[in-house]
Amino acid sequence: MKRIVYVPFDHLHRNFGALKEADPTSDVVAIVESARMTTGRNWHKERLFFLISSARHFAQTLKEEGFSVEYVKAPTTIDGLKVVQKKYSIDNVICAEPSSHRQFAALKEFGVTFVPNDFFLTPRPLFAQWAGSQKSFLMENFYRLQRTRLNILMDKGKPTGGAWNFDKENRLPPPKQYEWPAYLEHPRDEIDLEVAKELGMKATTTWATTRTGALAQLRNFIDNHFANFGPLEDAMTTDNWALHHSLLSPYLNNGLLHAEEVISEAIKAFDAGKIPIESCEGFVRQIIGWREYVNGMYWFLAPDYRENNQLGATRKLLPLFTDPTKTTMNCIKETVSAINDRAWVHHIPRLMLLSNLALITGTNPQEFLDWMREVFIDASEWVMVPNVIGMGVHADGGTMMTKPYAAGGAYISRMSNYCKGCAYNPKLRTGESACPFTTLYWDFLDRHKESFAKNHRMSQQVFGLKRLSDLPELKVRAQEVLSGLEQGTI
Ligand SMILES: Cc1cc2nc3c(=O)[nH]c(=O)nc-3n(C[C@H](O)[C@H](O)[C@H](O)COP(=O)(O)OP(=O)(O)OC[C@H]3O[C@@H](n4cnc5c(N)ncnc54)[C@H](O)[C@@H]3O)c2cc1C
Ligand code: SF4
Repeated sequence: MKRIVYVPFDHLHRNFGALKEADPTSDVVAIVESARMTTGRNWHKERLFFLISSARHFAQTLKEEGFSVEYVKAPTTIDGLKVVQKKYSIDNVICAEPSSHRQFAALKEFGVTFVPNDFFLTPRPLFAQWAGSQKSFLMENFYRLQRTRLNILMDKGKPTGGAWNFDKENRLPPPKQYEWPAYLEHPRDEIDLEVAKELGMKATTTWATTRTGALAQLRNFIDNHFANFGPLEDAMTTDNWALHHSLLSPYLNNGLLHAEEVISEAIKAFDAGKIPIESCEGFVRQIIGWREYVNGMYWFLAPDYRENNQLGATRKLLPLFTDPTKTTMNCIKETVSAINDRAWVHHIPRLMLLSNLALITGTNPQEFLDWMREVFIDASEWVMVPNVIGMGVHADGGTMMTKPYAAGGAYISRMSNYCKGCAYNPKLRTGESACPFTTLYWDFLDRHKESFAKNHRMSQQVFGLKRLSDLPELKVRAQEVLSGLEQGTI
């Protein structure tokens, strides 16, 4: 044996990363289950189950292919690699460039040789070249370039369907009396049950832990959900937890699926005439646009970007984020309960409920980020840091997004059925029945009006403050709401 091929928990694909060129006759594969990763924080069990079981299944498939595989449990990744080095008397460790600044630095210091990370469609240097040439990092500009560069949904140099963006058609509220397709359940095997036992939990059937299962999820999306994905993309409903979302992020992020495979199946279905353009474009935008952009920005921005707190938000994490019984806000109670059940909600609850609440309550961005990292099935540093710090809570002062995603109850009421079962009224901003989102939205604008007035995309919203004759009363109510949220009584 000549080399150790180190496969992190998020590089689980035989045809990409360091495994692409690996040879069972000369390479030992090392997979390290580090205590730092499993017990270091208050991780959601569903998340640990998914990550560990996927890695153990992957190790098994490599063994079946003839590889010598060392699946090591160790305090840290480096400790685990040392064990494998000693056992085989090999120093040479290769790995695809890791997905976080921290792991990159640790492995580099340990002397690991890197091959380029090809788990994304955009090489890191190419993104850096684009970002380095921009005045503002508009995702839309990057996305159009991706469409052209990758030749996806393009007709003779023009966007298919005559437009780059069909967002206007993709903002429908949740439908009433709608027949949702059944959820895909993932059967469990001995490896799953063993992992669940170690974690002291009952194995659920929500998330696949094998490539076969991930491919089945992709098929299920293409056949049963893709056509309706676009129009209902932003809707939220208590009738169905997944709506028409693909549920593919965990597999894209741990390597069980590659973006190339997902896009190829999507375009095949579109070319067969089964998918309306607004759904196809909406989905393609997520995969070749948002996902690539977020990863590119993570690597383009400095490692200390995660520490940004440019709105000076100092409130401690509210109890309702960890315990849904600590709130009477129906939208938040439902969302946090859904996260407790399956470690997932789609992008609108993440952005317009959870992040919006953290933003307008002035919650400390790093405390909120740490919580989001711990509870989501698909969370990793590269994806959570830009999404939370940049997009969710505007803690970077607008480096990524030109304006904060702050909204009151009217938006939530329009896009969901949460408000019907709520003690509060989304239309009211003062008084005991006022929706906390509505009250705090105006309070947030008022607190930051000087700095937002300079932002032309915010000036209209700030101007709206002048029309509020009840602003003094609203400010008093906002203080009551904030202390009620801290005490877990609102
Ligand atoms: C505050 C916040 C935090 C988020 N944290 C994560 C995270 O930790 N991990 C994660 O994978 N996604 C994250 N997202 C993006 C998005 O919410 C999830 O990718 C999506 O909900 C996953 O479900 P899905 O696979 O059904 O997605 P779909 O709605 O079916 O979308 C398809 C795919 O597009 C990609 N995608 C879409 N938007 C983004 C985005 N903003 N960033 C990265 N990929 C995107 C994902 O790979 C997703 O699987 C976050 C978004 C917000 C606003
Ligand atoms: S009224 Fe306000 S708190 Fe209640 S569900 Fe609607 S948006 Fe959420």
